[in-house]
Amino acid sequence: MVGIFHMLNTKKYDYLVVGAGPYGAVFAHEAAKQGKRVLVIEKREHIGGNMYTHVEHGVTVHDYGAHIFHTDNKEIWQYIQQFAEFNGFQNQVIANYKGELYNLPFNMNTFYEMWGTKTPAEAQAKIAEQREEALGSLGNRAPSNLEEQAISLIGTDIYQKLVKGYTEKQWGRKATDLPAFIIKRLPVRFEFNNNYFNHRYQGIPIGGYTPIFEQLLDHPRIDVQLKTDFFANKEEYLAEFPRIIYTGMIDQFFDYQFGELSYRSLTFEKEVMHVDNYQGNAVMNYTDAETPYTRVMEWKHFDGASDDGVSVITREYPQAWDRTKEAYYPVNDETNMAKYKQYAQLAQQMQDQVVFGGRLGQYRYYDMDQVFHAALNLVRQEFGIPKDYQFVE
Ligand SMILES: Cc1cc2nc3c(=O)[nH]c(=O)nc-3n(C[C@H](O)[C@H](O)[C@H](O)COP(=O)(O)OP(=O)(O)OC[C@H]3O[C@@H](n4cnc5c(N)ncnc54)[C@H](O)[C@@H]3O)c2cc1C
Repeated sequence: MVGIFHMLNTKKYDYLVVGAGPYGAVFAHEAAKQGKRVLVIEKREHIGGNMYTHVEHGVTVHDYGAHIFHTDNKEIWQYIQQFAEFNGFQNQVIANYKGELYNLPFNMNTFYEMWGTKTPAEAQAKIAEQREEALGSLGNRAPSNLEEQAISLIGTDIYQKLVKGYTEKQWGRKATDLPAFIIKRLPVRFEFNNNYFNHRYQGIPIGGYTPIFEQLLDHPRIDVQLKTDFFANKEEYLAEFPRIIYTGMIDQFFDYQFGELSYRSLTFEKEVMHVDNYQGNAVMNYTDAETPYTRVMEWKHFDGASDDGVSVITREYPQAWDRTKEAYYPVNDETNMAKYKQYAQLAQQMQDQVVFGGRLGQYRYYDMDQVFHAALNLVRQEFGIPKDYQFVE
């Protein structure tokens, strides 16, 4: 009877989109262009999902951690350019280990700072020596935990100073208690190249990501309701909407009936510093185990702007997830993936009405370009649009 009083689909929407993050917003935008009426509901107070940014003290702050757009996919790069001009930012991270500074990702600069090696041959020899030592101590057996795995890939020095503490903070567990598979590879570059991402197209939208979402969702056939949780009226939404694009947690959708999937959570601590330049770089990783945060972002170095005499920084702290916290990273180990498969089967049974999309709906880590790509693929599928169709006019 409750449904009669709610009448959530009074405008006869074709679609309900749950979540105004990139997956939901791109879908809503393209569906509206196809002539469909879309209601977007979002439980937070703002659109944009984890890409949300705001401006304070003249600088763009990323509320959910540093978001750098990077891709090799030209279509996606052109797609997002429709909504923003990008500044060409390249991430060049500095690691701070108890006051010693190193360039990341591991490259010739890092090796020089660590060992004083000056040529690729010297650095390769040093790494080979360190690896051999580590493999020798393992005997013939395969690495049985993350520590052994990392040491066998990169040797002790880099592991101890740049991998161990950071990884332990990220996972909230000792490296010797973490499974080896978490680190499959530790990419090293024998070039003096601090560019964190290898991708051809990189940058940050001038003015932040939020204006992109304002444009995506500004359409006469799209309505957006903020501070609206799908679970407040799940049964009514399901009864009244013929088609639902759901980007929330898949385990929650099914009442955690196979148990919770595991996630890692984060907290962000923002502070306005009364200095022009706090750390001289956009991102500084704290790779020791004692500093409680993993990284500090200084926002003016991302977009080159800020009021005089102030700089806004954010410290990022990893934390365990529970239902009261935001789920950021899926823990895609065997146990969780087996559980996820059970949920995915239930999702498949509902596929005529509900599509589970995005990082929480599909329980996988997506970079932004991948989530844009996935949303456009859904659009193609949903509206029978040919694979080679160009979304950019
Ligand atoms: C710390 C951090 C740093 C990152 N850095 C980068 C980076 O540098 N580069 C990069 O490419 N990617 C980065 N990412 C990944 C990027 O954030 C994701 O690719 C992207 O946000 C995923 O989009 P989505 O739409 O799937 O999910 P989200 O952005 O999470 O959006 C989902 C939305 O659904 C809403 N929602 C959930 N449940 C409900 C409900 N029950 N009712 C109503 N609304 C609901 C949520 O509130 C949220 O707004 C980073 C992620 C994190 C956590």
